[in-house]
Amino acid sequence: MKIKEIRAFEIATEPQPKTVPREPSRAQTIHMNRPTARYERFPNGVGHVSFAPWKRPAVLVTAEDGTQGFGLSLYGPPVTRIINEHLGPNLIGESAMATEKLWDMMVRLSTAFSPTGMTSYAISALDVALWDLKGKLLGRPVYELLGGPQKEKIFCYASGFDQAWYMELGFKATKLFSPWGPEDGLEGLNKLEELVAGTRETIGDNVELMLDAWTGYDSEFTVRVAERMRPYNLKWLEDYIQPEDLLGYESIRQRLPWQTLATGEHWYNLAPFAAAAGKRLVDIFQPDVLWCGGITAAAKICHLAQANHISVIFHGGMNYPFGQHLSMAMPAVTWGERSEDVSAPGVPLAEMVKLPGTAVIEDGYVRPSDAPGFGLEIDEAWLERAAA
Ligand SMILES: [Mg+2]
Repeated sequence: MKIKEIRAFEIATEPQPKTVPREPSRAQTIHMNRPTARYERFPNGVGHVSFAPWKRPAVLVTAEDGTQGFGLSLYGPPVTRIINEHLGPNLIGESAMATEKLWDMMVRLSTAFSPTGMTSYAISALDVALWDLKGKLLGRPVYELLGGPQKEKIFCYASGFDQAWYMELGFKATKLFSPWGPEDGLEGLNKLEELVAGTRETIGDNVELMLDAWTGYDSEFTVRVAERMRPYNLKWLEDYIQPEDLLGYESIRQRLPWQTLATGEHWYNLAPFAAAAGKRLVDIFQPDVLWCGGITAAAKICHLAQANHISVIFHGGMNYPFGQHLSMAMPAVTWGERSEDVSAPGVPLAEMVKLPGTAVIEDGYVRPSDAPGFGLEIDEAWLERAAA
């Protein structure tokens, strides 16, 4: 079965929950620290690219028989152009089943300007669309094509600032983002301890707690935070320094031998994961399926991790069926993350689904649907509304 057409276009995926929150999310008043925080013109995380008025890139890959696969990523304007004007035209007429070859072609087609960064988002969108198409052509869920199911259901944690609400929803693990960084000095460290201590009190001692610095720390602040938070039994510390600084990861690993460390959402393609795996720079890899190069890249990262006894917990993996299917199939994957505005207090998770057909987390666990491909229930009418 050959690929007949590849078309990328921009869509909006913001959910419109019917339920009015019983109180506003704390995310409206607590803002995570971003690496831009050292400059006064970027208060409260502004300047972060996700807040730019860019919609998201969606991809439809159509096979000769008319069957279609759907893919998604971030950063619509540059990514749709990379797909429509470069990657897409070079894949037309190839076998729709040859996901390994097509991924390798896309990486090599990007050598001149690097398969990382924005290009990686384009490769990811196209690759997940190809896996959706393959599943539909074979009439099987993607997790089966990947060798699963490896587990009955996936243990999920919720990321954000509304921990009391996450406990009501049945989560048994949750992650805070650090609202302060090196620019806030000792005062920031003190406020962070107050937030972490208060959160530990809210969730009790039988719920796992993690802390994510969103690449905004330096080595010194990372070490001081880790030491200061030790009494609160953090399961892991995440994304503490800039993603490209592999030597920094190496030195922090040496300075904090006891701390469980996690990163990888801003690592693209395979090279940083391979380098980090060989040196055990972190304990947990957190690639994002829609950013790192799609299902094909993410599966390779899982195998690399397994060979090096590193766990994988996909960044935002439970927000969409793509990460759910991979997590269902891969032995290296231990948990799943639900992020991107989990839901404001009182709003059911089912009302926050961005892509129809996405399985909803219940009581802290999820199992993706057995429908072919990723089980998405996307039709022409939905696409037209989303693209409007
Ligand atoms: Mg993170």
